Amino acid sequence: MSAPLYQSPKGVHDVLPDDHLYFSFIKKVVRHHCRRAGFRRISTPMFENVDVFTRSIGSTSDIVEKEMFTLESKSGKKFALKPEGTAGVIRAYIQHGMQQLPKPIQLYYVEPHFRYNRPQKGRFRQFHQFGFELIGESDPAVDAQIINISHRINQDLGIDDRLTLQLNTIGSMTDREKFKEDLINFYTGKERSLCEDCKRRMKENPLRLLDCKEEDCQILASMAPKFENVISSESKEHFELLKEYLEELNVPYELNPLLVRGLDYYTHTVFEFWSKKDGSQNATGGGGRYDGLIELMGGQPTPAIGYAAGMERTVEYMKETGIRPPNKDAVAIFVAQLGLVAKKKSLTLINQLRDEGLNVVGAAGKGSMKSQMSLADRLGAKYSLILGQIEVQEGTIILRDMNKGSQETIPIEGIVEKMTKLLGGKSLKNKKLWEE
Ligand code: AMP
Repeated sequence: MSAPLYQSPKGVHDVLPDDHLYFSFIKKVVRHHCRRAGFRRISTPMFENVDVFTRSIGSTSDIVEKEMFTLESKSGKKFALKPEGTAGVIRAYIQHGMQQLPKPIQLYYVEPHFRYNRPQKGRFRQFHQFGFELIGESDPAVDAQIINISHRINQDLGIDDRLTLQLNTIGSMTDREKFKEDLINFYTGKERSLCEDCKRRMKENPLRLLDCKEEDCQILASMAPKFENVISSESKEHFELLKEYLEELNVPYELNPLLVRGLDYYTHTVFEFWSKKDGSQNATGGGGRYDGLIELMGGQPTPAIGYAAGMERTVEYMKETGIRPPNKDAVAIFVAQLGLVAKKKSLTLINQLRDEGLNVVGAAGKGSMKSQMSLADRLGAKYSLILGQIEVQEGTIILRDMNKGSQETIPIEGIVEKMTKLLGGKSLKNKKLWEE
């Protein structure tokens, strides 16, 4: 077969119906946990003024430096497709006067994001993330709660056994400045052993020297000065309390002094969920505290913390674990008919069955009974209801159990009630869908 004329661009994918079963389930679990904890949903635009990201994420981060999809308007204005969620949420928080509202402000999102990276397994140019942000509280108990919700989501998705929670503190901005100096002193004179990226990082973002994936850089990183030498007592206390709270909540974690996260705006707590098998390469999600970001973006100084996870990677893990989300799309009944009168009658019957909350597909065309039945098979319908001319005349209908292959002719009267009972429908009759 020759290749189709048009294909999706490199690194971007269609989410086909089978994968949407996973996406819907993940959204449901996320929504459940977020609602229970007082988060409300927000959607920010697919693109923002490019400064929203360069200012917040930091112009020396990989995302801004190499991975942003930028666009230019006819008048020369520069925009970027959003590579992550926090910057846009904080821009919206400031723009819409949420600073004036009682704190904390708790927001969550489920959105596509875009990064211009080299496509490979688990790394795409368009991918989906869910995430949540809690703004206006600096207590480490909040850090513990955010981490706990992330952990509970992983548990409810059935993937927590495959993951380890990596935890670190990168302290306050002042701690970090001191640490950067220590790092530069250590690395000065050792530049030749560093990869090209790290040579650059040394000048622009020395903290990132610690989480380089190159082997030689990792060896040097393991010998580099430790953050615990410079951390202030306040930052240390924050971290100690966080660990105690996590223990109280029974959330297992591993301390990882080399975890810094790619984004400039983090302070204090940073955490990621790594694969037990592949380590950081296949993290499902990560987050941290970003107490300096809101001020950096022009708002009042306000502490905040957030988490974001990749949906595609989460789906991958669920599949590997053998988890099948419930199939809400499954067809319960296929209605087959032969002849014009039967077709007319079947239209009303289909409506009535759907009103009972059942998934019902009707044969629309003029296909033979054989082809209609093979369609019912292909759709995986549990039952077929068959209306022919004789049945219409006699006031009956054929009920076929598709799994057993058995069938019986029964009166058409009462068929809707019978099917609802058989399949456990939830009546939607006379119910407005917005009324619960
Ligand atoms: P980050 O904020 O960069 O740590 O991203 C959080 C999570 O989003 C990661 O742990 C991944 O699960 C997911 N993610 C980030 N970038 C990509 C990508 N290019 N393709 C697929 N998933 C991604």
